[in-house]
Amino acid sequence: MIPMVDLKAQYAEIKDEIEAGFAQTLDSCAFILGPNVQAFEKEAAAYLGVKHAIGCASGTDALHLALLAEGIGPGDEVITSAFTFIATAEAIKYVGATPVFVDIDPHSFNITPANIKKAITSNTKAVMPVHLFGQPANLPEIKAICDQHGLKLIEDCAQSFGASVNGLQTGSFGDAAGFSFFPSKNLGCYGDGGLVTTNCDQAAARIKQYRNHGSEVRYYHDVIGYNSRLDELQAVVLRAKLKRIDQYNAARRHAAHLYSQLMADLPLTTPHEDGIGVHVYHQYTLLSERRDEIMKALQDQQIGCAVYYPVPLHQQNVFKAECEGLSLPVTEAVAAACFSLPICSSLSDDSIRQIVSVIAGVVNA
Ligand SMILES: *Cc1c(COP(=O)(O)O)cnc(C)c1O
Repeated sequence: MIPMVDLKAQYAEIKDEIEAGFAQTLDSCAFILGPNVQAFEKEAAAYLGVKHAIGCASGTDALHLALLAEGIGPGDEVITSAFTFIATAEAIKYVGATPVFVDIDPHSFNITPANIKKAITSNTKAVMPVHLFGQPANLPEIKAICDQHGLKLIEDCAQSFGASVNGLQTGSFGDAAGFSFFPSKNLGCYGDGGLVTTNCDQAAARIKQYRNHGSEVRYYHDVIGYNSRLDELQAVVLRAKLKRIDQYNAARRHAAHLYSQLMADLPLTTPHEDGIGVHVYHQYTLLSERRDEIMKALQDQQIGCAVYYPVPLHQQNVFKAECEGLSLPVTEAVAAACFSLPICSSLSDDSIRQIVSVIAGVVNA
């Protein structure tokens, strides 16, 4: 049996450190915004090369808080991808703004600068690229477009912790960015968690206020805020894993490159690294017209596989009405043929060979 992500193997390596941290927290009973959250925020800011990193309750909340802090609201349009997890667009809806979905590049699966430019109107206030599957979007060009048109750049970094462009981390380019620590993400905790990053002092102050009931001084409330803090016990897990994130991401890249090398001659499309940044392979995603057959063969061997994402957001029931008539041909074609294979820091070369032989048995038959 080979799961999509083997969290148990990773836990075994860091068990002692995490249990010692949990025991300390339990003894101290400092559960809300305690010393581990503060230390993790500092360590994450240093790692990401940003002035402020602010923990919150989830990746969805991180994007919501980022949009709020940047003043995006009703009547505003936010250009983003339809080939992503629903949370990207949910966050835009939470602030009362309108997601404007543009098409993706067929190779990197990220929204393109040309498509963003074509979608800009007088109501556009922000661009929210998703660094899908761990591959950075074209941040240099997207940032230039945002600067030229006076738009906010808000990065969805839920899948890209540790990915970089020209030596700079994703999450350090935009006005603000949101990260997710959902357990299966590249940097994952043992429950829900998220992080907002920004280099702007005012935005950071607003994010801290919004995540904690609109309050800067306890029991004094200036705006209607939220209860969205990063949990202290989760911060213990995140501090242990942050120390090892480069090693985890290097192992993912090794696994991805071995897969691609072993499948180079098979009639299917392996992931494309577009060279804009360093891909950290949150997912290893291929394209094949025979996806269903391949997945059935993998499932028969108890090998994990999944489709991220089978239905693009503009075709989801919740968005169908407001996106009527919108056609995103590349997004739709990719959604119809994509599938992802197991990938994580503990995936062995032998497992990869076994998975590839099952796939070869289908596509070469
Ligand atoms: C996981 C994810 C989110 C949401 O993160 P949660 O922590 O699950 O709320 C947002 N955007 C993308 C692209 C994601 O993959």
